[in-house]
Amino acid sequence: MNLQETINASTKPFLIAGPCSVETPDQMMNICLDLAKNEKVHALRAGIWKPRTRPDSFEGVGSIGLPWLVDAGKKAGLPTATEVANKHHVELALKAGVDILWIGARTTVNPFAVQEIADALTGVKIPVMVKNSINPDLELWIGAFERLEKAGLDDLVAIHRGFSFYKHPKYRNVPSWEIPMGFRSRRPEIPLICDPSHISGKRDLLLEVSQKAMDLNYHGLMIETHPDPDNAWSDAAQQVTPEGLKNMMKTIILRTEIASNEMIQPLVELRQKIGLLDDRIFDLLAARMILSEEVGDFKKQNKITIFQQEHWAKMIIGRLSKSEEYNLTERFIRQTMDAIHQESIRHQTKVMNPKQDNSNYK
Ligand code: PEP
Ligand code: MN
Repeated sequence: MNLQETINASTKPFLIAGPCSVETPDQMMNICLDLAKNEKVHALRAGIWKPRTRPDSFEGVGSIGLPWLVDAGKKAGLPTATEVANKHHVELALKAGVDILWIGARTTVNPFAVQEIADALTGVKIPVMVKNSINPDLELWIGAFERLEKAGLDDLVAIHRGFSFYKHPKYRNVPSWEIPMGFRSRRPEIPLICDPSHISGKRDLLLEVSQKAMDLNYHGLMIETHPDPDNAWSDAAQQVTPEGLKNMMKTIILRTEIASNEMIQPLVELRQKIGLLDDRIFDLLAARMILSEEVGDFKKQNKITIFQQEHWAKMIIGRLSKSEEYNLTERFIRQTMDAIHQESIRHQTKVMNPKQDNSNYK
């Protein structure tokens, strides 16, 4: 199959669905046949080898599951996709007849691993989807495509799955939408698919993230779907049932592209980029306030006062000294830091004196 052509010829969104992991032959057959009843599903996904952040989690059934995935795909009449992280995975997946391969976020980050996969695929005609690296580095993501292209692969697709972040209040992986937008400016011919499941980490956020992706004119979505999500062997909190997927797809509003007036199009794009950066500023502020609450908790345990003049003065002076480097006026830096500080004290007070009403704190 040619995946790029198929995506471009399909009505949006091109939908890839299936469980995080292959678990049993029955699970695969059930979910694939169920998904095939939904005409909006274009391809099936399932992980055979699972890259886990910590040991002792389920690491995938391994190659024994390849025929379960391939057979289920054939019965369902849909192409199958799985993740490969090294040349052995590539050899086994090709031999089993998987239709589409994808490179996971923890592999894209490593040029040695990407090169090994590219070498193993030299001369092979197969579509490859490349997830963004776990760290917010556009060049690494683009570099992975270049390595595959040098090996002769030309049917490539990008998957945006968000970026690692320490203790984010909302996302499992922050979307940082401006990075995939940057990818699209650099490689407009490569279809871009969003993976709301790994961005959200929990199913109630899937609709919001999917809607945003469609509003940004992505080609498609990859959504983890499981017959019994709560009992899934991996990523239970973010998976949905085929029924849940169907309902969500009905709810997403597909807006047609506004006919582009060539004169104002650059302005529209710039405003879009600024809006996405503003989103990130608030995401960061929310994350910062979580840390402020942890500080409040520590101070409470250790009977330390909330406001410590010396520490705060140091924070302000540190920022002010960078005013030229940031190209921001001292006045602006001072006002911003003051506003952040006020909000931070409100969060700390909430933790230290939970009964006090801080909603009108000034
Ligand atoms: C997955 O798709 O199941 C997966 C492991 O994804 P990522 O590489 O985005 O973490
Ligand atoms: Mn997963």
